Amino acid sequence: MANPMADEMRRFKGSDEKNPFEAMSERFDRAAQLLGLDEDLYRVMRVPSREIKVYIPVRMDTGHIEVFEGFRVQHNFARGPAKGGIRYAPDVSLDEVKALSAWMTWKCAVVNVPFGGGKGGIICNPQQMSLGELERMTRRYTAELIDFIGPDKDVPAPDMNTNEQTMAWIMDTFSMHARHTVTAVVTGKPVALGGSLGRREATGRGVLITVNEAIKRFGLTPDKTSVIVQGSGNVGGIGAQLMYDTGYKVMGISDVAGGIYNPNGLNIPHVLEYWAQNRSFDDYPDVEHVSNKDLLEIECDVLAPCATENQITSENADRIKCKILAEGANGPTTPKADKILHEKGIFVIPDILCNAGGVTVSYFEWVQDRMGYFWPEAQVNERLADKMIASFNELAHFAEKHNVDSRTAAYMLAIDRVAYDTRMRGIYA
Ligand code: GLU
Repeated sequence: MANPMADEMRRFKGSDEKNPFEAMSERFDRAAQLLGLDEDLYRVMRVPSREIKVYIPVRMDTGHIEVFEGFRVQHNFARGPAKGGIRYAPDVSLDEVKALSAWMTWKCAVVNVPFGGGKGGIICNPQQMSLGELERMTRRYTAELIDFIGPDKDVPAPDMNTNEQTMAWIMDTFSMHARHTVTAVVTGKPVALGGSLGRREATGRGVLITVNEAIKRFGLTPDKTSVIVQGSGNVGGIGAQLMYDTGYKVMGISDVAGGIYNPNGLNIPHVLEYWAQNRSFDDYPDVEHVSNKDLLEIECDVLAPCATENQITSENADRIKCKILAEGANGPTTPKADKILHEKGIFVIPDILCNAGGVTVSYFEWVQDRMGYFWPEAQVNERLADKMIASFNELAHFAEKHNVDSRTAAYMLAIDRVAYDTRMRGIYA
């Protein structure tokens, strides 16, 4: 008998291990099959709701006009407004943004916050642009998307190479069009403009919280646990700092150019201060200097890739020597690598749980903006920990019940929740 789901899978199937949308789809397919997802729902949930492409003219400081290509993909609205960051990078592509938007849908469902998934990107080189150019580009991008974003429609946030300042510009541009201040249109804003205390640290804190839970499964305590972190930005840097403060031995850390390693542990506050001053680890003393590739292969208890996609592939998965893989980045592991890690018995805290601290506190920020009432930082952190620990345990329970690995369990849990809401809402026609 013909199997429509299998036909559909073949239609979409690609062969490029590093294509993020294919990586996402492969996991989605597997989880959907294991769940016995209804074929109609499968077809609806497998594709994004909307892909928007905009061309953004920007007057550069030299006086000429440059046109940048930008995207916003709104993957799913079944559980609430689309939610997700905007990244600025020379190599960002529609396929990447599509995958990231889907990951946001599953991430929000895993931690049970009432959002769908979205993601945006602009192809540009932010390191070579002035603040004024970045501001004009951000404002025009926002203006192009004005009908598609809003507190009840789609709520952007920071991602790679965007920050609180970027969010303040988006909020201001949107507010100028609305003729009144609309703080809840973005999250990750400056605290003074309706941002939430604890939001900046939230993704790194979420990594810490999930690692704290995972090490218990190995009978480890922080003081007996060694950690390697790839990345030193908002996720890796803050994650490393929080793990160091908790007593973990952080042995290695890196930036885009490469990393540093000391088997006796690094003084992370000093390392991060050094990086903030020098923007490089090149001359950092009394450590071994390693490439990003080699850093991943160092033996440790916890390996936390907190930078970008496709870091652990079929080429290097066999040489990964950690007990726990804490995916602070989105999509750092390819499906082919998943299989190898599983055979090696490595416990994976999947990205859609591990890095969900950011969007969880984004949800708190959105709630606070709409209430006009702001919470103390301790309350934000406590509610974040409650949500992440509950999700970690739910996921572990789901994995045991269905006898699947933690990544598959995360997708199954998320797809099950989105499927329920989609089924209840029905298809509008
Ligand atoms: N960019 C972050 C992520 O990938 C945060 C998204 C948000 O807070 O909406 O999860």
